[in-house]
Amino acid sequence: MIEKCPKCEAEFSVAVLGGGGICGACLEPIECPYCHKTVTEERTTGSFIETLIKAPDSKLARYLGISDVEWEEMGVELNENYGNSGDMIYCYWFTVPKDTTEEVLDKTGWRIDQIIDDIPVSLMDD
Ligand SMILES: [Zn+2]
Repeated sequence: MIEKCPKCEAEFSVAVLGGGGICGACLEPIECPYCHKTVTEERTTGSFIETLIKAPDSKLARYLGISDVEWEEMGVELNENYGNSGDMIYCYWFTVPKDTTEEVLDKTGWRIDQIIDDIPVSLMDD
């Protein structure tokens, strides 16, 4: 059984340990092995073992609409924008590199040398 976490989009497989008993089934949580949130609950006499198959892309990559791998291949350095106050990071920005692949440009609608601004600070938590 393959599940996808609705919270973080991690994919993981679920196996049952000690299931198949006749009585004493109770609701056991199926937990995302990545963010540890309960995804669903099912009745079993055993317990569930969750194994991570695919970690979700970072918040930044998902915000930009590309994968972590594509982001890393771009080799972008994020710049900090301190806004007018100058003492707090307001957002991040970067310039689309010259060697960005067509695929990424297609997906995102970016142009080479375009400045991508207003990237929220909250995406950098992880
Ligand atoms: Zn999750």
